[in-house]
Amino acid sequence: MIGAVDIGGTKIAIGLVERTGQLIDFVSLPTRPDQPYANALDDVKAALQKLLSMHSGLLEGIGIGTTGRLTAEKVMEPNQFLPDWSNRSPAADLAGAFQVHSAIENDADAAVLAEHLWGACAGSARMVYITISTGIGGGIILNGELYRGVNGCHPEIGHHVIDPSGPACFCGANGCWERMASGTALADWVRTHGGEPQWDARLICDLAEQGNPLAKAAVARTAKYLGMGLANIITLFAPDSVILGGGLMQRWNLFRGDVETAIAKQCGLVPWNKVKIGVSTLQHAGLAGAAATWVHQFGEQYDF
Ligand SMILES: [Zn+2]
Repeated sequence: MIGAVDIGGTKIAIGLVERTGQLIDFVSLPTRPDQPYANALDDVKAALQKLLSMHSGLLEGIGIGTTGRLTAEKVMEPNQFLPDWSNRSPAADLAGAFQVHSAIENDADAAVLAEHLWGACAGSARMVYITISTGIGGGIILNGELYRGVNGCHPEIGHHVIDPSGPACFCGANGCWERMASGTALADWVRTHGGEPQWDARLICDLAEQGNPLAKAAVARTAKYLGMGLANIITLFAPDSVILGGGLMQRWNLFRGDVETAIAKQCGLVPWNKVKIGVSTLQHAGLAGAAATWVHQFGEQYDF
């Protein structure tokens, strides 16, 4: 069994995952920005210990997927959700506590590792995973390996520029993909075009399905920008597969037509129609991703 820890902006999920990617059991704790790191780590340790006491089997190792960025040494960089985790090494600390190897990756990198091991396009030599929810993130598999940038960094696919006249982003750019096509961008646009302040992305998708003209226009606009970004990625990487995850992609059917139109129009120089594009079919993708980080680094079976 692999211990899996999925650190997100609203919750920290702790689970046990089989080598096949099958989830055995899990618990969930709220992410508390006010909580000191040592206390939060004690809660994670206690939760994992309890799961281990409930299920027979050997703990082979621990994998972690986390929101936010990591240094090349796998130390957490400052993170708005977990301020006291800054400069900490949860992988090293959990490895010490349980006397096993532990691995950690950014959650989008963790997700692409899980897709590569256990997803519908498992084994793809060139795979791009994109998560579209409040923000947009992604991970890349190149020649069967997790792609890393200079100094081991995680490339920020969600922050390539789609429209330089678009809204400013905290990354420094204007009109980057995340600011044009995320669930947050969808809700922001509706709010400034006559929608109610409490309309979130989920409700806007519901309203679009019911035929609300403003919601339909907003979904069409988002689909256009989503398609432009995906078309850019397909032109740049010509991957075997593009896997989509995140909350907004639970409504993929609303966006699919316009996205496919954009790709067909924009990707004239690469065989875009050979690229498999689809929504992730993994259950409990966050915990599967966490476990996959360990399998990627320490599991012998990871051998494509
Ligand atoms: Zn940005």
